Formats: sequence, C-alpha cells, structure tokens
Amino acid sequence: MALKVYNTLGRRMEEFAPLRPGEVRMYVCGPTVYDYIHVGNARAFVIADVIRRYLEYRGFKVRFISNITDIDDKMINRAREMGISIQELGELYSDAYFEDIKRLNIKRPDVSPRATQHIPEIIGAIEALIEKGYAYVADGDVYFDVSKFEDYGKLSGNKAEALRMGARIEVNPKKRNPADFALWKGWKPGEPGWHSPWGRGRPGWHIECSTMAQKYLGETLDIHMGGKDLIFPHHENEIAQAEAATGKTFVRYWLHNEWLTVEGKKMSKSLGNFITVREAFKMCSPQVLRLFLVSAHYRSPLDFNKEALAASERRLRRILRALRRLISLAERDSLTPDDERLISEVEEGRRRFEEAMDDDFNTPLAITALLGVVKAINNFADANESIERTTKRRVSEMLIALLDVLGIEWTEGRVKTDREILEGLISILIDVRNEMRRRKEWKAADDIRERLAKLGVTLEDTPTGTRWTIEDVGR
Ligand code: AMP
Ligand code: ZN
Repeated sequence: MALKVYNTLGRRMEEFAPLRPGEVRMYVCGPTVYDYIHVGNARAFVIADVIRRYLEYRGFKVRFISNITDIDDKMINRAREMGISIQELGELYSDAYFEDIKRLNIKRPDVSPRATQHIPEIIGAIEALIEKGYAYVADGDVYFDVSKFEDYGKLSGNKAEALRMGARIEVNPKKRNPADFALWKGWKPGEPGWHSPWGRGRPGWHIECSTMAQKYLGETLDIHMGGKDLIFPHHENEIAQAEAATGKTFVRYWLHNEWLTVEGKKMSKSLGNFITVREAFKMCSPQVLRLFLVSAHYRSPLDFNKEALAASERRLRRILRALRRLISLAERDSLTPDDERLISEVEEGRRRFEEAMDDDFNTPLAITALLGVVKAINNFADANESIERTTKRRVSEMLIALLDVLGIEWTEGRVKTDREILEGLISILIDVRNEMRRRKEWKAADDIRERLAKLGVTLEDTPTGTRWTIEDVGR
C-alpha cells in the first residue's frame, strides 16, 4: 500500500513520493535554546522522530536536519535575566536539549545547525533577495516585501488573509507594507551583532531556517515539520524567502502537529502551564512518556495528565511482559499448528500496523495493532511451554521492529529470562545461608535450606561449595 500524508499545503491527503526515489530529505524546526524543553515541544520532536523511523522502516534513506535557534529576542532577554552571555545560555540549554532527546530515544539529527554559526550564509541569502527585488533595506534593517511574492499566503490560507495576519504582528514605520517581515535587524544597544553590508545587526528567525534547511538539504526538501503555530508566519515566510530566491518549490510536504494540552489548553511557556521533560521524567520513565506522546494521532490534540501517563505505563508493561514471556519459552525443533497460527497472527498484526502508519502516521491505530500482536503472543504462551526455534526468532524480531518504529527500545541484555532470575535468587539465598553458618546461626541457616527444599530446590554442601538442584515436583 502507498504511504499517504496530510499536506498542510493544499490541506489534503497526498500520496508520498520523495523527489529522489528512495531518499527523503527532512527538516524539523528545532528549539530556541533559552530554557529546558517542555512536554509540548517533546511532542513535536517525538512525532518527527517516529515519522523518520517509519520512513526508515519502509526502506527510505532519510537525511534529517533539525536546527537550533540560538539568537532571538527570547535568548537576549533570558541571558540578561540570568546575567550570562547569550553564548553561555545557548550552550547550557542546547546541551540540556541533546540530553533530553537522548533520554527520549529520539535519533540524533544528521546535522543540528545553529543560527549563529551560519551568519555568512544568511547574509548571502538576504543579498540574493535584495538583488532580485524581493527585499529592501530600511535604516539598518532589511525587510521582505510580501507584495512582490505572488504565492504569499499559500500555506496558511490566501494572500489577503496572510497580509491581514502579518499586519497584526508588529507596527513598524520602516516597513513598506505592514505585513512585510524582517530578514535582518539593525543593531540596538545591549544586543549582540554581526557585521553585514547593512551595518551591524542580527538575522531574523525565518531566514535562519530556510537558509540552513537549503544549505544541508538542497533547494527542494521533501518534508518540513513543526507545530501548527509555525504555519504562520514562520513557515509561510520560509516559503516566500526560499521560493523567491530559487523559483523552485521549497518543500513538497508540510506536516504540522496539533497541541499537547493541559486541561484542554495548549501547554506553553506564556500560559505557565508547562512542565519540562525533566520534570516529567520524575513522573514516569522516558519510554512511557514517549508511548504517551504517540498515543494520539499527531493532528489531534493530546491532553497531558496522570491518568493518561498511567494508561501508557500499563500498556508498555503489557507489551514488554509479552515479549519477555516469548523469549523465555523453551525452544524446540518441531513446528506445531500453534506455532504456525502465531506466525500468521503476528504477520497480520504487522500488516495492520503498517496500514495504520501508511495512513498519515496513525500511531494510535498502530498501537492497537501492536497490542493485537501482544495478545497473540500471550494466548500462545498460555497454551504452550515451548516454541519452535525460528518461529520464536521471527515473532520476536517482528515485534521488536514495530516497537523500534515507535522508539520503544528492547535490549535483550536488560531483561533476564525467568530461569536467569531464578538462578540469581537461589545463589543469593545460598550466600545468605553460608554467612549465617559462618556466624553459627544454625537455626536460620537450616530454615533457608528447609524452605527451599519445600519448593523443590535441594542444597548440597560439598568441599568446593554449595551445589543446588531443582527436583521435578510433578503437576
Ligand atoms: P519553540 O522552541 O517554542 O519554537 O517550539 C519548538 C517546537 O515545539 C515547535 O515545533 C512548536 O510548534 C512545538 N510546540 C510548542 N508547544 C507545543 C505544544 N503545546 N504542543 C505541541 N507542540 C508544541
Ligand atoms: Zn524553523
């Protein structure tokens, strides 16, 4: 089946086909590093990561770029408040961001370009726009002239509407049209600045993203993502800048995620209803948080609350417990009808998982398919004490591959089999008993031996240490 995605540009479902067959070039607007990321930001980043992982699962080679905005008004104000330099602030919170996404098992972008390290490229992009007549200099600032770009408004609605929305953003007498936006901001006292043909200053936010996206991905990208607040003006302006300069399509598929909410309201810094990812890790494990963040479709709102986290925790336990049960089953060579049924049920689950993900990355439906696989494994393990060797391998590999798409990690080494746990527990008891004997606490030592014997575990003291055996106690 073909993969379909909902393109904000055109507001419809479209079949996904990258520009170069087999290769996907993808850009995700990253964080402004003036504080720790909150769970709402994490939703945007986890969704992008799941989409990347699914594209890779489907065999595409994905080049994934996500920027770091390390210069803007928020950065300047926060650095001032904290009494540190903007550079120190940027380093502090970009380090924290990389730690957080690592714990969330988000794959690291191929490049995480920083705006402040791309000033020459940004200046070059602005010069090209001035040369082509799309931008003008006004007293140390440079603005994009939206009236010159025919398609302005095509992402967020229509041109008239975009001009109206743009005009509301900031009243500024230097602009020719109220909806024009800044490409370069002239220096003000107390602000950082870089030399440019228009005097000292700093880049606007929109030109950072389109310049860095094109530097690392070329003139045309396959996918550009971000939360829906970025549709206007940020992404609308990125299109204007990039397409005015090249005359080519900038992005083929625009994908935007809905809000993570708290009691129905967008989680945000400005509302003060946010919780950082770090705080959330005290409420649940990173894996639980991840599973929770994909428990709704990315274009539907998702409410953050304790009950929802607890539900994801129960689900994750169920999934991992089933996998553990499967792996602990004894292996045999012969194939039974139950083995064959298990394989076909798990393949059916995988098909449903793929069908859900092909339908604009419907993660909640994909999770339902995954739980179907879990149920098939549990039914099998209820009725069988052993499993044919290759069946076990195929089933566990399939489930692990689906979990990997969601970014839920399974490492065999981390979870021991029942047998290994049993052996570990017995050897602990033997050590405790020997310590008691050393202290001449004969009664307590004998007690351990007798109670183990009742469970069918016989201890035998030999000159080289204590040996143990498990008797068959019958049914
Ligand atoms: P920012 O650092 O504010 O630019 O945000 C980084 C990313 O997080 C952007 O794609 C935002 O759209 C996204 N984002 C911010 N708040 C939320 C939220 N409550 N739910 C989902 N995405 C969000
Ligand atoms: Zn951006």
